[in-house]
Amino acid sequence: MIAELDILSEWIPEQMHPGTIFVLENAGQIGEKEDPYWAVLSCPNCGTLGLITRKQIAGLMPVICGSQKCSAQFFIRDSEIVVRKPF
Ligand SMILES: [Zn+2]
Repeated sequence: MIAELDILSEWIPEQMHPGTIFVLENAGQIGEKEDPYWAVLSCPNCGTLGLITRKQIAGLMPVICGSQKCSAQFFIRDSEIVVRKPF
């Protein structure tokens, strides 16, 4: 699994390699008021794209990959991926 995030400043789908993050242009305006969607993240393990929320990007909530074939769970700490330890 990739250990560091790559931040994309422009939405270029071909460049969404595993571990790439793109902050939404309307970050904070969609999703739940308490914890709105903030960015698109390409899973650092498998590359599946998923929306992540403000709390996830702030490292307060774990990111869980949406792919059924991947069980990646991790926290974002600044621009690093910290694998969530199994309980
Ligand atoms: Zn994944």
